[in-house]
Amino acid sequence: MTQLTMNSQRMAPRPLVRGAVFAIAAAVLMWTAAARAAGQDATEHWYKGNIHCHSLYSDGNSFPECVVEWYKSRGYNFLALTDHNVFQEGQRWVEIAPPTETKPKHGFASQEALDRYKALFGTQWVDEETSGGKRLARLKTYAEFSPRFETPGSFLLMPGEEITCPTPQNTDYRVHVVATNIVDPIEAPAAAAGQTDPGVWQANSAAKLVASQSKAAGVEMHAHLNHPGWSHLTAADVCRIDGLNQMEINNDDSGSSVSLPATEATWDTVLADRIARGKPLMLGVAVDDAHNHLTDSAFGAGHGWLMVRAASLTAENIIRAIDRGDFYATTGVELAGLRTGRAELALRIRPEAGVTYRTEFVGQRKGGQTGQVLAIVDGTDAIYQVIGNELYVRARVTSSKARMTSRGTIAYYEMAWTQPYQPAKIEEGK
Ligand SMILES: [Zn+2]
Ligand SMILES: [Zn+2]
Repeated sequence: MTQLTMNSQRMAPRPLVRGAVFAIAAAVLMWTAAARAAGQDATEHWYKGNIHCHSLYSDGNSFPECVVEWYKSRGYNFLALTDHNVFQEGQRWVEIAPPTETKPKHGFASQEALDRYKALFGTQWVDEETSGGKRLARLKTYAEFSPRFETPGSFLLMPGEEITCPTPQNTDYRVHVVATNIVDPIEAPAAAAGQTDPGVWQANSAAKLVASQSKAAGVEMHAHLNHPGWSHLTAADVCRIDGLNQMEINNDDSGSSVSLPATEATWDTVLADRIARGKPLMLGVAVDDAHNHLTDSAFGAGHGWLMVRAASLTAENIIRAIDRGDFYATTGVELAGLRTGRAELALRIRPEAGVTYRTEFVGQRKGGQTGQVLAIVDGTDAIYQVIGNELYVRARVTSSKARMTSRGTIAYYEMAWTQPYQPAKIEEGK
């Protein structure tokens, strides 16, 4: 049974009677038909994907094929491998560490990683060599391994890179920008001594490099700001990064999910600032940024992804959908329906047995604070009725399902975030 509560004094009072609740449930049931009537394509699909993770090409612990296999075998539809400042190309060999070293240093692969590689792909596929007493294995190139995984309509692999900028002098910035579907590696912008606002400059410069490569190649490419908190970018800094319209609101590997309120506060601050300046909204992406695909852990592989709505599974469609905000970010909660309209924001959660859900509608009213919780709805169907004074609205769903740490403590509760939008800018009937 859906319960509807409002926690804002400014919300227009609505009687919380059973009839109203049933009416809302009925309205949600009808939304698929309404959405079709509103011109949405009934053939659109939701695709699951991760656009930020690492392999042995940089500081990941697994061979790239094993990383791709990890996601494909778990039902992901798209993936971008985004190693630090490197493309999966050229002649690259890694040294196999002694079996006693379970966490070998950068440039080495563990025995476990090699064993797993052979077990999954067969010894015939694996290139090994012994040279100068060192055991080596070759990292295959993107061109070599991608055909093995690409499956039209069900699995799309995209080349990527985490543009990893060097820390500018006398600052703490560690600015990283993920670029997806690029055709050539991109050199990370290094701020010269005396560069004004170097962290912001690096992020905007990385964005420009991706945009100019996209234009020159005539290929859709995506770029987003990674883990702003870990990068020591403040909300005020992110407000000056106009080159990027997406930022990570969840990045498991850098522990951002532990400090989510801070990341979400940054997001809301940036949204208010952009609306005030008439700029495009900053969208929020979830990634796992996994470096470890060998063992399960409370944070890491599989703990943050995107659900993207697109007509079909092509890089162009996926990137365009992300850029126009036709997706939601999740750490486990999945939606069965999502509709953003001029009059209401409605969602339906795909429930798991024994799990409860709370949806908070977050936004800003004219003259009000940003990041306000405008309404709270418990249950699997949630609708926010737009009053008319909202500058933006988004939804945050929190479940009762906890991710546990290896010590048996709660790491976080699985969540989902829909993208912010400006109801007043939605045309009637959409
Ligand atoms: Zn990073
Ligand atoms: Zn990363």
